[in-house]
Amino acid sequence: MSTATSSNASQHHIMGVYNRAPLAFERGRGARLFSTEGGEYLDCVAGIATNGLGHAHPVLVDVLKAQAEKLWHVSNIYRIPEQEALADAICAATFGDVVFFTNSGTEAVECALKTARKYHSANGQPERIDIYGFDGSFHGRTYAAVNASGNPSYVDGFGPRLPGYSQLTFGDHEAIKAAIASPTTAAIIVEPVQGEGGARAIPTQCLKGLRELCDEHGVLLIYDEVQCGMGRTGKLFAHEWAEGGAPHIMAVAKALGGGFPIGACLATTEAAKGMTVAAHGSTFGGNPLAMAVGKAAFDLINSPETLDNVNTVAGFFTQQLNGLKDRFPDVIVDIRGKGLLIGIKLIPNNREFMVLARDQHLLVAGGGDNCVRLLPPLNLTIEEASEAVAKLEKACEVARAKASAA
Ligand SMILES: *Cc1c(COP(=O)(O)O)cnc(C)c1O
Repeated sequence: MSTATSSNASQHHIMGVYNRAPLAFERGRGARLFSTEGGEYLDCVAGIATNGLGHAHPVLVDVLKAQAEKLWHVSNIYRIPEQEALADAICAATFGDVVFFTNSGTEAVECALKTARKYHSANGQPERIDIYGFDGSFHGRTYAAVNASGNPSYVDGFGPRLPGYSQLTFGDHEAIKAAIASPTTAAIIVEPVQGEGGARAIPTQCLKGLRELCDEHGVLLIYDEVQCGMGRTGKLFAHEWAEGGAPHIMAVAKALGGGFPIGACLATTEAAKGMTVAAHGSTFGGNPLAMAVGKAAFDLINSPETLDNVNTVAGFFTQQLNGLKDRFPDVIVDIRGKGLLIGIKLIPNNREFMVLARDQHLLVAGGGDNCVRLLPPLNLTIEEASEAVAKLEKACEVARAKASAA
């Protein structure tokens, strides 16, 4: 089995859309991953911001096993008590009144966008179809999601752009105001902290300002908290840092299932008014197995213990990483992000730096704007965080030596 990763193993039958590291894992525990070749790695990717409680959390494993023995899947044509329990917990903790469950982030975004257009249609304003995203955003890979983000490398070659999608630039207040005031605008979609785009946090007063402008003009505000939600920033949802900055609709996924594939679209009763019987659906979305694990993960993440830990460890990282930046100004130019969604903007190529980190047995994620991202489990300890910093320091030393040798 362990030979499955040796460099001559075949990827011939895998569609070539990923540039994969020559590394595979056999098992994980907490923030540790063990490779098929026996190496031990400190995991600051956590799935990809999905395994919020680390790998093989014993509570989640128990719940998964117990539910696996009982019931995996039934159709949404029946009531699903596990689904109702998770929806109750989510709505009790958020602005949301209703939830639609999906299997992924992009499906949650898809549901959010459909909910917004359907709302205006139900209000007798079917001409309100325009959706505005932001430069540098990421919303997933379905047609609607790539059109909302507008990133050329995700839309080029896939046929015509969908009608009704455009992008705005942060800081261009006049354009943002004009877009929201337009009579054909349905919704604005924004990540309160951009993830793939390079760990960029939107100032909290901007979220509040967006909400006020949207309310003034009858436009719906959609947040994509697929990556920055579920405790990642030290509050259950990132927008909670902005008082008065709640959305009307929100897409959630990644850590929602603690690593099990789950997504959710939350909405207020008013915003969801068009989503009536037969308006939308999903075969697998909200199945009992996913929902049982999701409820256990939700309860563990939405606890003072986890959220306090995020804030403590994030504070430690911010201080230590800024120290590294001061000592290695030739390698690190900026430390950004929020909570444990940390971006390190580099001078050397970020993909090459990821390899240097991996040589130190530290796993980090890439990101836009030549960043690497740290997305560790939310229950990372200070000891593990300082180990990560020590490994990054070694990677910085190697990067410096390489640059001066070049
Ligand atoms: C990952 C991500 C998505 C897409 O989620 P998938 O589960 O890959 O479909 C959407 N939005 C944001 C902000 C993400 O980080």
